[in-house]
Amino acid sequence: MSGNGHPKTADIVILGAGVMGAAIAFHLAKRNAGKVLVVERDHVGRGGSGRSSALVRMHYSYPPEVQLALVSLNIFENWKEIVGEPGDFRKTGFVRIVHPNEMERLKLNVAMQRQLGAKVELISGTDLKKIEPDWVVDEVELAAYEPESGYGDGAGVANDFLTRARDLGVGYLARTQATAFHVQGGRVQGVVTDQGLIAAPIVIAATGPWTRPLFQKAGYDLPIEPEYHQVAILRNAPEMKGGGCACIDSVTATYFRSDAHDKFLVGDFYGTRPVDPDNFPQRASDEGLAEIIERTCKRLPKLENAEVMRGVTGVYDMTPDCRPLLGETPGIGGLYVCAGFSGMGFKISPAVGLTMAELVLEGSGKTVDISSFAPSRFPEGKPIKAEYEYVDD
Ligand SMILES: Cc1cc2nc3c(=O)[nH]c(=O)nc-3n(C[C@H](O)[C@H](O)[C@H](O)COP(=O)(O)OP(=O)(O)OC[C@H]3O[C@@H](n4cnc5c(N)ncnc54)[C@H](O)[C@@H]3O)c2cc1C
Repeated sequence: MSGNGHPKTADIVILGAGVMGAAIAFHLAKRNAGKVLVVERDHVGRGGSGRSSALVRMHYSYPPEVQLALVSLNIFENWKEIVGEPGDFRKTGFVRIVHPNEMERLKLNVAMQRQLGAKVELISGTDLKKIEPDWVVDEVELAAYEPESGYGDGAGVANDFLTRARDLGVGYLARTQATAFHVQGGRVQGVVTDQGLIAAPIVIAATGPWTRPLFQKAGYDLPIEPEYHQVAILRNAPEMKGGGCACIDSVTATYFRSDAHDKFLVGDFYGTRPVDPDNFPQRASDEGLAEIIERTCKRLPKLENAEVMRGVTGVYDMTPDCRPLLGETPGIGGLYVCAGFSGMGFKISPAVGLTMAELVLEGSGKTVDISSFAPSRFPEGKPIKAEYEYVDD
């Protein structure tokens, strides 16, 4: 420790205490990885994690993402036993509705997910209507239904992982901003912060939409772009059924879910760029929310009578293929990136923390092979493209 109590060395420094940084810290601590330090410029969960709609689903078109979601679901379901806190996961069920012309892809993706162990079935519009009588599903020939999925809480997950990691000996520096990486001889030597230098042979940046400028200073450009999003929270109309399924709906280009038993959350597929993650509207616009709700009403007309309680705003960290960057930085040994989750990171965060810990300690993700998410895929011209990718994946 230095004179002001600020640690000067660590075996592993993690930047960012969102769901990713906290999950990595937890899994490293479980593996006795030495002196691990989490450095957070604000407070735990203050980035995208604390604003997340936090849907949990297994429906992806890229198999490693399904695997990460499955491993994570098991952790969400057994939170108390694994993390030691009560947990916030709510099993409401989840429905994926795709464009009518993507029905074949839906079938093939569901077959792939089932092969990987996901509990998912194809159901007809008639069966969907039985599960969700309030939804208008006339055009739905088939939908994917996951009875075990639902939603969680981003701030809660980040807090729980960090609390348990600290119980296991991880250090935590809040209100401490990393300003640059200290790199020498092609290896990271530590982190420069606004509280002084921390020497460490391994640094993991889980810094969400703030990641690119940090790496640019070290001469490496990661293609992560911030994108602004708005979410509406409504009070259920009196005649609405509470606690229903979460849904991602390509036809209305919205996602929605219940929020406890008496509220409802609606979000948009599309956001706006450019946006400054340090300076974006904290209040959602009335027109923006009205537009998202109007689209969702086509699926759920009873929402027309639901009162808008508030809006949530937030920033996604988008990559060109909408998939995260996980791995060591080419040319800078010991410097790892874990960012670029493109609005989808919450549901896979427990498994990302686990596989990042495996990568750092054992050289590769053992539970799930995450090598295809390496940041080198973009300079190599090999973005990820799933076999049966949807137009809006
Ligand atoms: C509105 C919204 C809705 C979403 N809905 C869903 C959903 O339904 N399902 C889903 O799976 N995902 C969803 N997501 C995405 C998901 O929430 C994110 O992918 C996930 O929370 C990212 O976690 P993170 O830890 O990578 O980043 P963040 O939570 O952003 O954490 C990064 C942390 O790094 C810190 N930091 C940044 N720079 C520095 C620095 N230089 N030094 C020190 N600390 C630094 C920040 O303060 C922050 O706390 C949503 C996101 C938003 C914004």
